[in-house]
Amino acid sequence: MKPRDRLRIAMQKSGRLTEPALDVLKRCGLTFRQSRDKLFCFGEGEPVDLLLVRDDDIPGLIAQGVCDLGIVGRNVLDEFKGVAGDAAAALTEWRPLGFGRCRLSIAVPQDVDYTVPKDLDGLRIATSYPGLLGQWLRRNEVDAAVVTLAGSVEIAPKLGTADAICDLVQSGGTLVANQLRETDVLLQSEAVLAGPDTLPTDERGDMIELLLKRLDGVIQVRESRLLLLQTSRTSLDAVTRLLPGGPQPTLLPVAGQPDQLMLQALCAGEVSWRQLEEIKKAGAREMFVLPVEKMLA
Ligand code: ATP
Ligand code: MG
Repeated sequence: MKPRDRLRIAMQKSGRLTEPALDVLKRCGLTFRQSRDKLFCFGEGEPVDLLLVRDDDIPGLIAQGVCDLGIVGRNVLDEFKGVAGDAAAALTEWRPLGFGRCRLSIAVPQDVDYTVPKDLDGLRIATSYPGLLGQWLRRNEVDAAVVTLAGSVEIAPKLGTADAICDLVQSGGTLVANQLRETDVLLQSEAVLAGPDTLPTDERGDMIELLLKRLDGVIQVRESRLLLLQTSRTSLDAVTRLLPGGPQPTLLPVAGQPDQLMLQALCAGEVSWRQLEEIKKAGAREMFVLPVEKMLA
């Protein structure tokens, strides 16, 4: 493989992960020149380019060294690791990204009696994830036939080509529409930033480290709020006790009012009206809840 000095990230060309993946990269300060109907997008500011491909190809492209990183569902990554064996074992999840959440589950027709995995003995299970399903069947000592299908797995029981399925579930609506009942969850999935478990030692490694730091900031601020309020020194303990989780608040003096303090606290999640009302009752006033735009620890 020819050495490259620019970082190359593989992501889904068109599908559920495309928009949120571009959004997270944009929040990391990465912008791209090419139009999105092309396979390759050239990075404008930083030396980072994109390769837009089918999501199934992403782990392989990283394993071959064609791309340095990829944004892909854990389901696709783990299936690849399970099927490709040793060569893929060196692929790792660098960061979970918090979108594309779904689960890989077993489902059976609603009228089938099912209580334990052993009930699947002798049945045919349709799936696009033969690797992950095979592992689960072995772990549970179930002797079932795996029917591998590329798509439309949920209609296999109705068509008579399988007795049960193992497929991705998000809301469960598709299962209900096909008179199926979810019985076991094999894997909780979300989009992840995947890459080799050892970073390149050249500039690309430095760029990955920089990107990971920015990504940590992006993931953290997505949920964070900055709470500002004023309180008297006597109410400070009561107010502080009610603050939603997060690092120690910062206290500042208020000019001309020695008894008053300005408090600034980073909160890990939403701050509800009810929480604000409670904090106010404890003695706070002039309260503001602000979204956080960027964070660099
Ligand atoms: P491609 O053409 O890239 O192969 P695809 O049809 O395999 O596309 P999508 O349906 O866009 O892929 O799903 C991409 C990823 O989104 C899945 O691998 C999974 O991680 C995640 N996902 C989240 N919810 C669901 C869902 N309900 N069904 C399928 N995938 C889901
Ligand atoms: Mg796919």
